[in-house]
Amino acid sequence: MSNAARLKDDAHAAIERHAEEIAALSDHLMHRPEPGYAEFATAAHFAERLTRMGLPVRTGLARTGVLATMAGRGDGPCVALVGELDALTLPEHPLADPGTGAAHACGHHAQLAAVAGAALGLSAVMAELDGSVALIAAPAEELGDLDSHLDAAAGARPSGGGPEFPVGKAELLREGAFDGVDMALLVHTGRGGGPRFSVGDTLNGSLVTRARFRGRSAHAGSSPWLGVNALKAAGLAAHGIDAQRETFADEHAVRLNYLLAHDQGALGSVPSAATLQTLVRARTVEALHTAAATVGRTVRAGALAFGARVEVDTLLGYLPLDSAPALDDIVERNAHRVIGGTGTARGRHLGACTDMGDLGHVMPVSHPYTGGAEGDHHSADYRVRDHRAAAVEPALYLAGAVIDLLGDGAAAARHVLGESPPRMSVPEYLALRRAMSRHDEWEDV
Ligand SMILES: [Zn+2]
Ligand SMILES: [Zn+2]
Repeated sequence: MSNAARLKDDAHAAIERHAEEIAALSDHLMHRPEPGYAEFATAAHFAERLTRMGLPVRTGLARTGVLATMAGRGDGPCVALVGELDALTLPEHPLADPGTGAAHACGHHAQLAAVAGAALGLSAVMAELDGSVALIAAPAEELGDLDSHLDAAAGARPSGGGPEFPVGKAELLREGAFDGVDMALLVHTGRGGGPRFSVGDTLNGSLVTRARFRGRSAHAGSSPWLGVNALKAAGLAAHGIDAQRETFADEHAVRLNYLLAHDQGALGSVPSAATLQTLVRARTVEALHTAAATVGRTVRAGALAFGARVEVDTLLGYLPLDSAPALDDIVERNAHRVIGGTGTARGRHLGACTDMGDLGHVMPVSHPYTGGAEGDHHSADYRVRDHRAAAVEPALYLAGAVIDLLGDGAAAARHVLGESPPRMSVPEYLALRRAMSRHDEWEDV
């Protein structure tokens, strides 16, 4: 038996001894959802489990993030196992928190249990690995309170000294929580009816634009011609966005979702204020800029038609995700060892987004999807039913992947770093993120 196979057997035996507890941790957190940057109880629960393993644990990173490091022998590469802390706001979900409306409709609770489970397995073998493992719980993967961040893009700081960035991994990078980490793995639950396991999927990036139209109120019955109807200007812009969907190349996978809101006023008045908020998703940063420029022109066209004024705030949501193929290979091999190779997929393009895309710009990452859930992500039907598939099996193949990466002098980890070096430094990434936020104003367009 090879050395790696022996270490995997030891790690897997340790995980299986804790399998019920890992599944119970996933279930416990599923029933206690908290919104992004407010996952205090979730973080405390996760940190407490790591502390019980005798690990030194840092908390409060980017508000609620948790970090613990498991040292091996020597000073080889550091592999991060990442789980996300947050739920998303979806009040109609049957397990939504009645106070906040947060619900685990994206399955992040299972990620944390998988990370803790992998750590339980790896603690049995760390002394024979040539590097270290960082266990990281990251806040706020879902885009939450956008208005304060859009206000920041407009030049005003978010109130109350809140986080600079809307997504947690960007904030963790800004705080230096990933300093010294060389690569990162995160296993996300897939959708119901999806593949049993997939890896190497690419995901879109996204920009958020908020167009605020300002017109002039007037009596809607006696003298509507004296008003400037901001709601109709915004509505025309929304129609313009719909009319242009087919102008985007298929390979850019552009998605445009908008919400149109009438800000205030009475039914008998010409509306003087309206907001059109658009989520622009695309496969590459260049395609994001192209699609956002189309939205910008269309917004101006709506304002121009009515003689309204419009201000547009733009904010980077996520960078597109491209994982590291050599890292994906290792995760895939270990997943097949645990669950077999049937019903698995590789290299799809998904229209969704993740801030693992951001992390993937500064280090090699892998972001596989696992089974165990039913329903569609972000819907009231989404729920993890099989915690073994969602948390215990990922713990097994995450531990196996780390053993392959850091065993035998960490040759495999060094190979990954050679094949997929960081695309940019953390300061370059932070500069890119800040440069993609902007404020534009058009008066008398
Ligand atoms: Zn999600
Ligand atoms: Zn998610």
